[in-house]
Amino acid sequence: MLKVTLKDGTSREVEQGTTVLDFVKGLSNSLAKKALAAKMDDKTVDLTTKIEKDCQLAVLTFEDADGRWALRHTASHIMAQAVKRLYKDHHVQLAIGPAIENGFYYDIDMDKQLTEEDLKDIEKEMNKIVKENLPLERKELSREDALKFFQEQGEGYKVELINDLPKDAIISLYSQGEFTDLCAGPHVLSTGKVKAIKLQSIAGAYWRGDEHNKMLQRIYGTAFEKKSDLDDYLHMLEEAAKRDHRKLGKELDIFSLHEEGPGFPFFHPNGMVIRNELINYWREVHRRYGYQEIQTPMIMNRQLWETSGHWDHYKENMYFTKIDGEDYAIKPMNCPGGMLVYKSQPHSYRELPLRMGELGLVHRHELSGALHGLFRVRNFTQDDAHIFMMPSQIEEEIQKVIDLFDEVYKTFGLEYHAELSTRPENSMGSDEVWETATNGLRNALEHRGLKYVVNEGDGAFYGPKIDFHLRDSIGRTWQCGTIQLDMLLPEKFDLTYVGEDGQKHRPVMVHRVVYGSIERFIGILIENYAGAFPVWLAPVQVKILPITDKHMDYIELSPEFSIVEITVPRSFQNKTLVESNIRAKYGINVVAIKRDENLIVSPQPTEHLLKGDIAVVVGSNEGINSLEALE
Ligand SMILES: [Zn+2]
Ligand SMILES: [Zn+2]
Repeated sequence: MLKVTLKDGTSREVEQGTTVLDFVKGLSNSLAKKALAAKMDDKTVDLTTKIEKDCQLAVLTFEDADGRWALRHTASHIMAQAVKRLYKDHHVQLAIGPAIENGFYYDIDMDKQLTEEDLKDIEKEMNKIVKENLPLERKELSREDALKFFQEQGEGYKVELINDLPKDAIISLYSQGEFTDLCAGPHVLSTGKVKAIKLQSIAGAYWRGDEHNKMLQRIYGTAFEKKSDLDDYLHMLEEAAKRDHRKLGKELDIFSLHEEGPGFPFFHPNGMVIRNELINYWREVHRRYGYQEIQTPMIMNRQLWETSGHWDHYKENMYFTKIDGEDYAIKPMNCPGGMLVYKSQPHSYRELPLRMGELGLVHRHELSGALHGLFRVRNFTQDDAHIFMMPSQIEEEIQKVIDLFDEVYKTFGLEYHAELSTRPENSMGSDEVWETATNGLRNALEHRGLKYVVNEGDGAFYGPKIDFHLRDSIGRTWQCGTIQLDMLLPEKFDLTYVGEDGQKHRPVMVHRVVYGSIERFIGILIENYAGAFPVWLAPVQVKILPITDKHMDYIELSPEFSIVEITVPRSFQNKTLVESNIRAKYGINVVAIKRDENLIVSPQPTEHLLKGDIAVVVGSNEGINSLEALE
């Protein structure tokens, strides 16, 4: 009998030669139905794989990235089969067809130029293949036999691929019905498992990405387990395109990018309103949570970056300059500067935890092809803070940081989940410190009752961390906040505090960001709100149209306008409500919003004002007078 160890650490005995599928059926029939592939030790495998030795086994479903990969990659085989069936007179040759993030593609060489119309035919044929529910069968061939097979099939690219495989490589083929492809796998059990398919586009792609090679036709598509999930995904894509922050950022005059400074965003007056409000809010919250604020310089000398390790390990992302003949670097991170501030004074345990915030503008080199609006830039402002504390304070302090994060994310109506990354191999520091640190993070999450997943061994070599993933209004997630414990920098910079015993001790340090990058966060907010910012962030907040004579007093102040634009202070408690805020604050009611010539009567309390909206209000004279006082 063999021993199979499961993810939860429990183990089962199984007879040698049992397939993974039969093993999983023994665990649970419903799990076997959901299973798409499995992870055996470190390898993803088909469910038809036989268990031949003691191993660790994890079942992969559509919830797992590798499970989705197996399903979508199978869809690429189905697409290739459909193309071969439909265009057999067009010398179809297949190149490569991997799964990718959110979908799959296949590169195909044929003497017919495919059009968007053809995609519909291919999709139809694919659905037929799905209905046929063909099992995928794996077989391994010798190099010789594999070469012979693909030569006979006229598959020149496959022949090239086999010739490039290392000598000892196992060459595997997968067949479904009449179609066979060269592939390492894994795949799902049968074509019937791929329930929902959508082909999305055709593009040109050079064989092996080399422009000297032939241009092939690349068909992109995606696949899901359920039709409803596919529909939701396609709807989300449509919404995302409508909300693209690069498009809205221009329309709403928030920011621009110029070839004179690629990746260095320019903020316009409207963008600065949003930016400054985010910063004001950040300062207000951090003051309340006991943070102090510092600012460290943008340029510091080589020696500092050597001490911090950036000079050796982060150089390709940094910009450099010379001053008086000496090497300097432009900061890619705020930490080393923060260390110098800490070191500039002696510290006592009584001051700890010491929380030092910095809104630091950092510069990092990104490849020009990777730049993307405000999401991927070359300079950005980290809403950083470094917290110095005693090991015994970790749990309580992390709890406070999470409280702060929770408050900030709720303000934007963003749900989130956390991911805890634990000790990797080859890490520094003692077992004891790692245990205290990791338990500190874990307990803080537990006590808050937060949803979190654990990424075993995914932490940095210098400490465990918690990442916060925000869910936006169309279901996408964005990693923004991080709480990173660091045992390395306090060592490198020889940071100390004097303990109760009068001796010097090493503090534990945390790096943390809430927004992450203010620039990127603005991009996320633009897309999350589709440009309809809550009133406290909106560049144009409210326009008032008094509708009775009683309100004429106010209008007389601006005789040239019958509609008066005013600015409301941005310190609302509930930052998402338009109507109730205005009523609560000024004793006047928003009875309608005028938008593009349409009148939205009785706006919902959660209605956001868009740029150009006019709020139609009625209310007391005092209300109007207090509005006047605001100007
Ligand atoms: Zn394959
Ligand atoms: Zn830091």
